[in-house]
Parts: sequence; C-alpha cells; structure tokens
Amino acid sequence: MIRTDDVVELTRALVAIDAVNPALVDGGAGEREIAEAIGHWLGGRGFDVRLVGADPARPSVLARRRGAGGGRTLLLAGHLDTVGGAGDGGRRADAAPDGDRVVGRGAYDMAGGLAAAMVAAAGADVAGDVVLAFAADEEFGSAGMEELLAELDASRPDGAVVLEPTDLEVTLAHRGFAWYRVEYEGSAAHGSQPELGVDAIDRALDGMVALRGFGAELAARPRHPLLGTGSVRVATIEGGTDAATVADRCVLVVERRTLPGEPDPAAELARVLAPSRPGRIVPLVARPAMEADPGAPIARVVVDAVERATGGPGRPPWRPVVDRRGPDRRAGHPGRAGGPGRRRRARRRGVGRDGFT
Ligand SMILES: [Zn+2]
Repeated sequence: MIRTDDVVELTRALVAIDAVNPALVDGGAGEREIAEAIGHWLGGRGFDVRLVGADPARPSVLARRRGAGGGRTLLLAGHLDTVGGAGDGGRRADAAPDGDRVVGRGAYDMAGGLAAAMVAAAGADVAGDVVLAFAADEEFGSAGMEELLAELDASRPDGAVVLEPTDLEVTLAHRGFAWYRVEYEGSAAHGSQPELGVDAIDRALDGMVALRGFGAELAARPRHPLLGTGSVRVATIEGGTDAATVADRCVLVVERRTLPGEPDPAAELARVLAPSRPGRIVPLVARPAMEADPGAPIARVVVDAVERATGGPGRPPWRPVVDRRGPDRRAGHPGRAGGPGRRRRARRRGVGRDGFT
C-alpha cells in the first residue's frame, strides 16, 4: 500500500534541494546534490544505485530494485533538473507546507513525479525488476537521458512510464521537434545606394514566405488521429545593423514539429528554402516523435490504473504541450507519460496532494 503522506513528505524534501539546470541559468546548482540525496534514499531501501554521466557535477540516477524473479522489467523515468525563473518559486523556504499543496521550484515538474516513482518502486511486491532512470539536463539538451539510454542498452526494460505531470492523463503520442538556424548572407551598402548591396533581409523574407506556404502544405497533409498535422514556423529573426545600411546578414531560427514516422525533416526544409538561397542551414536540436501502441499491455494497465484512481477517462484526445524527452521508440520499448500535477497550475501553485493518488 502506498501512503500519500510518504510521497508528499519526499516531494517536499526534494523541492528543498536546488536543482536548477546550469545550462539554462548561469550559476544554476545542477543535479549533483539532488542525485546524491535520491541515491541515498533508494540505497537505504534495497536498490542498486548508480550515478551515471560524464560530468561529475551533473549526474543522472540509475537505480534497480530486483524483483522476486521471473517477471518483466518496468522502467519509471523522470528528470532531476528544474528550470530557473523569477519570483518566489526559487526560494528553498517555499518548500514549506502550504495547506494541502506542495509549492516551490520543481514541485510540479517534477519532484512530485520522482517521489511518486520512488515510493511506489520501494513498496512494490512484484516478480520483475523496477528500474528508476532520473535524468540530468532534461530541461535543456537531454544529455542525461542520452547517457542513461547508453547505460540501459544491454538491459532493456519491457515497458516504461514517464512521470511528467500530465494532469493524470496518459499520453500515448507526441510530436517531435527539430530546430534550425537559417543564415542568409548579403553584402552591405549605404542606404542611399541600395542597388550596390545585396539585402540579406530581403532573402530571408523570401524564405519566410516559402515557409508560410510550406506550413499550409503541412496542415493539408493527412492527419494523425491523435496529433493532427506537423507544423513549421519562424521562431526568431535577427538581421541588419542600422537604419542606413543594407543588411549583410539575417538569421532565422525555424522550428519544425514532426509526426511519428516522418523522415528527417532537414532535407525537405532545405528544398523549401532553396529558392531563397540561404548561405547555411544549421541543425540545432531535434528529437523524434513518439507513438505507443494503445493496445500494448503496459498502456492498458496504466490507463486502467488512472481510471480507477480518478474515476475519469485515463486517456486524453491528445496533448500538444509536451515536456518530456524520455526513453521512447529509439529505446525500443513503448513509452508512456503520466504523472501528478496540473500543468496550468505549474507556475504558481505547485502540486496538490490529490495529484499523488
Ligand atoms: Zn519535466
């Protein structure tokens, strides 16, 4: 039997540890302290615990609790780091009790999910192994999850649940993303004689018009039953030096959202932008889409459990906002996301006790 009080108490203890991602915030504390605290807690409860990763200041936690034998292996995944942010959320004192809510930086995303996984795994009486994989750097480059996947390679789990906060709904699919920096080169000239220069902003404008048309083309493609269609948009624009000079450079950052099964979107983007003559298209970060089989045993078990706990449907129509870079199809097993907390409350209100059911 899992006691909600145990999960709440552990969540508070985790929130009290500063784990701001230093890749997002200069001087962020990183994951060392929280990883050690989690490792200590799990080690005292019979888990084999390893801290993994190349950077000693930023380890991920990989822990295994051996089952009685003969069962399948379940992976519970999460992340250690938090984003930064202004306001009261970053103060350790905010981990103090606030009525029936736990507040403080990371309470919602995702100390609550980590604590739920830890307490559940520690109390599980099952034949198979339970593996906890808590990654560093999820909020930025997913370096920790890459390192965890490399460690897990030889001992692949049979099913996985990612405990990102999802209002206790089960997410069975999400779109992938790919970011690109598109660099346009021109040549500077005085604004009184623009014909002597080549306007990089004008080229970028051609590129943006092409991207708008491409976006319409993506929206008209066959719809995925859960995810709809892919998309493309310009996220940032930077170019020009001053009002009197023809811009010799303009840089766009472009985001593509992709559907499961789509090929690498880079080639298609290059084709769409080719007439605007970009100097370079630099791939930045990309993660593939995820789609799990709704009929797989792990999916049915998780959906049933959520329905029993909440009395409502366990599966939403789909979820456009995804903050989860967990083990997915690349890892060769079905991924699931579902955890405590309500997303719309994330910024101010922490995570409620009811979310730990
Ligand atoms: Zn998260």
